[in-house]
Amino acid sequence: MNRIQISKPDVTDVEKQAVMEVLDSGFLAQGPKTALFEEQFAALCDVKHAIAVSNGTCALQVALLANDVGPGDEVITTPFTFMATVNAILFAGATPVFVDIEDETFNINADLIEKAITKRTKAILPVHLYGQMCEMDRLQSIAAGHGLRLIEDACQSVSASYKGRMAGSFGTGTFSFYATKNLMTGEGGMITTNDDETAEKCRMIRSHGMKQRYYHERIGYNFRMMDIQAAIGLAQLGRLETMTTRRSENARYLNQRIEAVTRPTVREGRGHVWHQYTVQVNGGRKRDDAVRQLNEAGIDVGIYYPVPVHKQQSILGLIGDVHMPVAEKMAMEVMSLPVHPLLSEEDLATIVKEVNKL
Ligand SMILES: *Cc1c(COP(=O)(O)O)cnc(C)c1O
Repeated sequence: MNRIQISKPDVTDVEKQAVMEVLDSGFLAQGPKTALFEEQFAALCDVKHAIAVSNGTCALQVALLANDVGPGDEVITTPFTFMATVNAILFAGATPVFVDIEDETFNINADLIEKAITKRTKAILPVHLYGQMCEMDRLQSIAAGHGLRLIEDACQSVSASYKGRMAGSFGTGTFSFYATKNLMTGEGGMITTNDDETAEKCRMIRSHGMKQRYYHERIGYNFRMMDIQAAIGLAQLGRLETMTTRRSENARYLNQRIEAVTRPTVREGRGHVWHQYTVQVNGGRKRDDAVRQLNEAGIDVGIYYPVPVHKQQSILGLIGDVHMPVAEKMAMEVMSLPVHPLLSEEDLATIVKEVNKL
């Protein structure tokens, strides 16, 4: 039986040809394709600068360092995210401070942030989960009111918007182009900013702290992108609107027909890009039973995320015992159904039929 996959990289001849051109060009590492990808990505996000890096985790780490986040600093973030968000904070030497999420959007609850601010708080790092942006008006005014940096984890939300403004344009933006993301380069990442100084720091940290080759003004990494990745990214950028429209159409189809579980909530003024179509299995029923039943029917289901970050073994000893009731509940109830652009009409009909049997 043909399984319906939860995600599938959307690769066409355009990507294939773009990679072959780079291989023939002699420029395999960071070169002209990367520069062009940065320019076009900055235009997409409506920002002055975009800095390409090796992956989304690097983007987060560089963004934190370029915002001078380091030892002794606290960074307010969500416990309901991929571990990379928090690993980046920890590797910058800072302390993550968790604030619980909203139960409808699964994003950080802006009402709870001010209570978590201390003298050590340096930045707020919201995650635009599943393709829907956070409550940015509130986050911006809290950040401005307390003199905090705002760093967006937009790894799941390329081309998402809030009241007409693009993800990654509110503070320092970070993106991932991992194979399953809405725009993919296999591995890859990007940082976006309107601030000249932040952009320059990011470029230096990406490449051993150099502006001029072999003159090292600060400590840096090798977090560069390859032109092979950038070429795939450029091809994907050219098709992003089409791919995002497909995701939206698939989500609309599911929204109009799914009854048996709680459908996703889209807030007023949000341009949702449907990285995931995430429903809640509740009312006394068990999510894991639902997942098993769908798997048996040939449908792959994702659980993002089964364990909230503050309960992960790797950091329990670092942060002590914190309780985030909404995140902990959602970790038990959410499941993501396939919504990617390569689903057929028959796949969508099967998903609806099987979900409504739950
Ligand atoms: C994918 C992802 C990342 C990390 O990106 P990589 O490219 O895999 O390093 C970070 N945060 C979130 C929310 C993600 O979904």
